[in-house]
Amino acid sequence: MDTLIEEILVKEDEPPGRLSEWNNWNWQLKNSVSEVSRLKEIFSFSDSELEGLEKITLKYPFAVTPYYLSLISVNLPDDPIKKQCIPSIQENDDFQTQDDPLGEEEDSVVPGLIHRYPDRALITLTDMCPVYCRHCTRKREWKKGKWVRTENELKNIYDYLKDHKQIRDVIVSGGDPLLLSTHKIEGVLKNLRTIPHLEIIRIGTRCPVVLPQRIDDELVAVLKKYRPLWLNTHFNHSNEITEESARACDKILCAGIPINNQSVLLKGVNDSVEAMKRLCEKLLTIGVRPYYLFQCDPVNGTGYLRTSIQKGLEIIKQMRGSTSGLAIPTFVIDGLSGQGKIPLQPNYLIDLNEDHALLKGCRGGIFKYHNPGEK
Ligand SMILES: *Cc1c(COP(=O)(O)O)cnc(C)c1O
Ligand code: SF4
Repeated sequence: MDTLIEEILVKEDEPPGRLSEWNNWNWQLKNSVSEVSRLKEIFSFSDSELEGLEKITLKYPFAVTPYYLSLISVNLPDDPIKKQCIPSIQENDDFQTQDDPLGEEEDSVVPGLIHRYPDRALITLTDMCPVYCRHCTRKREWKKGKWVRTENELKNIYDYLKDHKQIRDVIVSGGDPLLLSTHKIEGVLKNLRTIPHLEIIRIGTRCPVVLPQRIDDELVAVLKKYRPLWLNTHFNHSNEITEESARACDKILCAGIPINNQSVLLKGVNDSVEAMKRLCEKLLTIGVRPYYLFQCDPVNGTGYLRTSIQKGLEIIKQMRGSTSGLAIPTFVIDGLSGQGKIPLQPNYLIDLNEDHALLKGCRGGIFKYHNPGEK
């Protein structure tokens, strides 16, 4: 933990309770930093920068847990954790982006349920998150204030799912669904499990990364009851892999819930082969499988964090052959207006005909491979 940040954040606390408070997720949320005025206690922003940030945060609020803040090296101006959670005046810049480029509102079949692929559906349970990532695709939701789906909205979601027997995979997402009480989460899982055609439930949460304290024994005991369950999380940088986050992942894994990671390619955070390789290799050591690497969506207020598409392809190309295949995520662009995820691969297939394929090897060699054809 960065001692400076610890001093600032826990100084009012009584010394004896310090560590147990730090490990309590409600304490973490209660002590989150969400006011621009508090940023000057930690970082050296000029007055005009602070003024700019006040304006930005009216549109795109921010909040950071003391835990996640403690991962920042305050003396590093381009710290990869800081880039993800501390607002920037560049959020105002115009980069030809939109509020909802993926057309999620159009694919919402009832409030809180996005049904884009025939066999899968995504529930947005709340718009609240422990940390508001500056690159968030659902940044537009933040302006609406903090909401949680009502019982009535949930009932409509369950009814829709019951009526659509082709849905076999449901993603419980948000915001961060694990910000709800364990009791409320159990209610949702229990209701979903009464629908016989739902084979798997996935939980999309960034808690293991930004609020690992949330993964407590009580929560894990509840999750365990509703398997087959898969958990998707969102690590973007190897500095996020700490003792605490590793412990949180281990608890989930020991309950028989596999963890996959969906990262976003972000300028100055993880947009180099070295940074991405370090992240993905470290993820394997804590039992987390890199699943997707997303091109950052063209969302208003995120343009300054976006990279070229070539960058993502180059990273994937360099990783192949130089690290475990298990460490290599699929690079995807989320298609505009509900086109769905589109995987991008470096091109290894130069030509394919009835007789042979012309292939490019990972070491750069080009060779012919006989095509057995259809017998
Ligand atoms: C990403 C996503 C899914 C799940 O896609 P997978 O490729 O199966 O992980 C489902 N619904 C929506 C709306 C999504 O954005
Ligand atoms: S955790 Fe996910 S939903 Fe929440 S702010 Fe970050 S990117 Fe957005």
